Amino acid sequence: MTDTGEGRARMEAEWLEVLPRLRQQVGERNFATWIEPIRCVRDTRGLCLEVESRFFQEWVAKHFLANIQQALTECCDSVPEVRVVVAARSGTSTARANGCAGVSAPQTHRNPKIGRLVPAYTFENFVVGPSNEIACSAARTVAANPARQFNPLFLWGGVGLGKTHLINALAHELLGCGGRRRVAALSAEGFMNTLIAALRQDQMSAFRDRFRALDVLILDDVQFLAGKERTQEEFSHTFEALHAAGKQVVLTSDKPPQEISHLERRLRSRFEGGLIADIHPPTPEMRVSILRRKAAAQAVDLSSDVALRIAQHSGPTVRELEGALTRVLAFTALRGVPLDGDSVAAALGAVARPSCRVSVDTVLEVVSEHFQVPLDVLVGHVRTRSVAFPRHVAMYLGRLLADASFAAVAERFGGRDHSSVMYAVRVVEERAGAEPHVRQLLDQLQTRIRTRAAR
Ligand code: ADP
Ligand code: MG
Repeated sequence: MTDTGEGRARMEAEWLEVLPRLRQQVGERNFATWIEPIRCVRDTRGLCLEVESRFFQEWVAKHFLANIQQALTECCDSVPEVRVVVAARSGTSTARANGCAGVSAPQTHRNPKIGRLVPAYTFENFVVGPSNEIACSAARTVAANPARQFNPLFLWGGVGLGKTHLINALAHELLGCGGRRRVAALSAEGFMNTLIAALRQDQMSAFRDRFRALDVLILDDVQFLAGKERTQEEFSHTFEALHAAGKQVVLTSDKPPQEISHLERRLRSRFEGGLIADIHPPTPEMRVSILRRKAAAQAVDLSSDVALRIAQHSGPTVRELEGALTRVLAFTALRGVPLDGDSVAAALGAVARPSCRVSVDTVLEVVSEHFQVPLDVLVGHVRTRSVAFPRHVAMYLGRLLADASFAAVAERFGGRDHSSVMYAVRVVEERAGAEPHVRQLLDQLQTRIRTRAAR
């Protein structure tokens, strides 16, 4: 497309469309600091994100370009090349007019058929642990032998827990093996947009040929299909055709098939007919590994202590962990201060400093008040349902926030065995993965506990 006024207006509409998605992905604070100030224009090479300084340019390119590309992929039919450039200071001339060097997007792996993959989302970069090992090994099995087992493979879990990462890893793996397989990886929204375009242009037979010739179809966020009858109908035909031809289908969703509302019965039963694997929020140990792995990818050596501190001050999802890490690294780089517990606390506006660390007792106090279960009952051995969940939550938060070992938490709960705390952590993680109101409750309790600890 040429750089006409029309082109610019269209591009800005694209940018406006991805902004809400980016806000959700990177978090409010990152969004306000790094994304909102970007001015987006289109030039002959593609999309030009103008920023005010070289530092800003490097930061955005390093930390947010993958998010931006991902959001564009999800929103737009054809994704242009994206560059981050330093804007010219004066007049109407833009960076491109001054020949400013752009930081190009990392090369995306162009799928020969449909979709675009994020290069960094590989199996090697994916931290595996109790919360995702079944999903990950199912994805690896499908990658090694598509359509033999687990067809369809249905991965589900809360936002920011790695579903898109896993299906990208799967697609990379499939495309890497000699590159002869026809693989499409796209969002359910992308599928709908492609369908609408085909309907408008009267090209339905090309649309059908295109999807039905695939060896593997990977559809992300199928919950988006809820209530979209026409898209469901077409997807259902695509699914049936692929399935009958012995081809692989992989799906992701933020909820299990039976909870996707307004989904055609046939599709639901198809989704339920393969392997359903859920992904939960990472365990405390995984959170530390993920932070260290993400830091290492940016050539930062993050100690376990500092990683643990960041993990303690971040929300339960991996996306929130990444956001917290980004803020801490930006803070230390901008202020020129060392990366330690104090800079973590300052960067994250955290209330906990070494002098006001969260103790298991503070956790117990807050949980006991919230559920109105007396403290001695909470740590005691009564096993009624009304006590079991609050106790599990207290054990989970004790382990998460108080930086105490399983054994230390178990000791505080009437000298139990450490395996009872491990069990509680698993139960709470499972419920948090499946039930948004449990996630919200955990967030509220965390905030209250930290505030109490800071007093
Ligand atoms: P979802 O699709 O479930 O909303 P994403 O796949 O977009 O989540 O993951 C959000 C971010 O978290 C991505 O940057 C991804 O690389 C990262 N992430 C999620 N899980 C892991 C993991 N187990 N190891 C490393 N990174 C992860
Ligand atoms: Mg996703």
